[in-house]
Amino acid sequence: MKACTTDQELVINTLTAGRKIVAITGAGISVSAGLPLGDDEFEGAPVEKILTRPFFVRRPAQFYRWFRHCVREWSKASPTSAHQLLKLWGVDVITQNIDNLHMSTGSSRLIELHGSTRSLYCPRCRQRFPNHFHEQLAVPFCPTCNNVLHPDIVFVGEPVRHFSHAVVMTCKADIVLVIGTELTMLPCRGLVEIAKRNNTTVVSINEEADSFLMEVHAQTQFARGT
Ligand SMILES: [Zn+2]
Repeated sequence: MKACTTDQELVINTLTAGRKIVAITGAGISVSAGLPLGDDEFEGAPVEKILTRPFFVRRPAQFYRWFRHCVREWSKASPTSAHQLLKLWGVDVITQNIDNLHMSTGSSRLIELHGSTRSLYCPRCRQRFPNHFHEQLAVPFCPTCNNVLHPDIVFVGEPVRHFSHAVVMTCKADIVLVIGTELTMLPCRGLVEIAKRNNTTVVSINEEADSFLMEVHAQTQFARGT
């Protein structure tokens, strides 16, 4: 067995003691799944602009071309070892990602702060539809009220979802794992600040999350004699 880092030992001890782990995840956890994270623009428009409400309202057809492109590409990806181990360990996950990879592990202990690309909704009657609804049309619309359907994601600059639930989750953690995010976005940075104020141990894994967690898993199994 390889020698563990101090951070890995902290996670191993928390797991073997049956204490509570909360993971805060960002795009970096999905890199090894092969997601095209490097796509900075689409049809000449920067992705960070496409993800704003004014862009969606002004150019819904272009928005939906980008959205459908992402849904198609992301549906080919499988969860990484890191996604799967978090599920296996029963870790509560708070994610900034909209790529569905945590959900596709079957995780139910999940807060998707920025929503997901799984569904669309009507802003008037609040009906929900699968993300492929009306895919033959440039822009999907609600069959009841004729309204343009919205993606079930949080646009840039708008409030994230379930933040108070995420705060409660963070406050119950014995250890917080920050995986694949440098915490440049405020909501997640705020959660980590709360954890630190509570004297909760915070472990950041910015690279090689798969091998970090796989080693933790191997050592935990070894410690348990299984
Ligand atoms: Zn409607």
